[in-house]
Amino acid sequence: MNDTRSVIVTGSTSGIGLAIAEGFAAAGMNVMLNGIEAAADVEGTRERLEEPGASVLYSPADMSKPEEIRDMVGFAEKSFGGVDIVVNNAGIQFVAPVDEFPEAKWDAIMAINLSSSFHVAKAVLPGMKARGWGRIINMASAHGLVASAYKSAYVAAKHGLIGLTKTLALEVAEQGITVNAICPGYVLTPLVAKQIPDTARARGITEEEVKRDVLLAAQPTRKFVTTEEISALALFLCSDAAASMTGTALPIDGGWVAQ
Ligand code: NAD
Repeated sequence: MNDTRSVIVTGSTSGIGLAIAEGFAAAGMNVMLNGIEAAADVEGTRERLEEPGASVLYSPADMSKPEEIRDMVGFAEKSFGGVDIVVNNAGIQFVAPVDEFPEAKWDAIMAINLSSSFHVAKAVLPGMKARGWGRIINMASAHGLVASAYKSAYVAAKHGLIGLTKTLALEVAEQGITVNAICPGYVLTPLVAKQIPDTARARGITEEEVKRDVLLAAQPTRKFVTTEEISALALFLCSDAAASMTGTALPIDGGWVAQ
């Protein structure tokens, strides 16, 4: 892999995205961090990740706003001279039965978890095509392959993201660009920690029971997937060894979808 590749990781101020950004930065790449936090709150992370000879920048672009997405890609292209890799990772969750699901939450999940990946891809593909090399990684989920009750918007968005991944992969297959989806099982990040009380309320059980009987019950390993494991898979997908892997939806889920 060329060490001076440049990458955008959306939603990389926390959890899985941060671990992926750390992996790419440690490999010597230029990294554009992104998230909803103020720049001042991300400055420590930005500085910590910067390796000699590479730069790490931060864009607070809101992934629900197409014009901010285009500005973020323009900022990365101008700063780094091009964008070789994108990881569409930003995502949110909301848990409720469909008949009680707030419409604004449905719209936000569709925008951030699905449409943002279309807008990012649309903005980066001309540069990738011109250079004849690119990697697009979409962070789907085991919920892109199977459903769980009370997660209608999330499950619909993640299934849609896998459809987008396959379509994009076909469109650019002859141009040195691969497009893949990663489908993690449960990872104990703030996104999962936040949904534990909501799931407990929706199902009328305790938070400990949610962890044991709802989350880890789905994973035959009975262990949370780690952010480092997902980061290593993302790095592999950007290596030359993965050049023939495209249009895939790769579970990394402790055996969840094998059942
Ligand atoms: P997290 O809550 O720890 O981090 C989410 C990140 O997205 C943060 O950096 C946040 O700033 C950013 N973000 C949120 N809304 C945004 C917006 N409007 N614009 C820009 N950035 C925004 O979440 P996580 O668990 O690390 O999840 C990351 C991705 O992995 C998501 O797409 C999620 O669906 C997916 N995923 C997570 C799990 C899990 O168990 N944690 C499992 C499967 C898939």
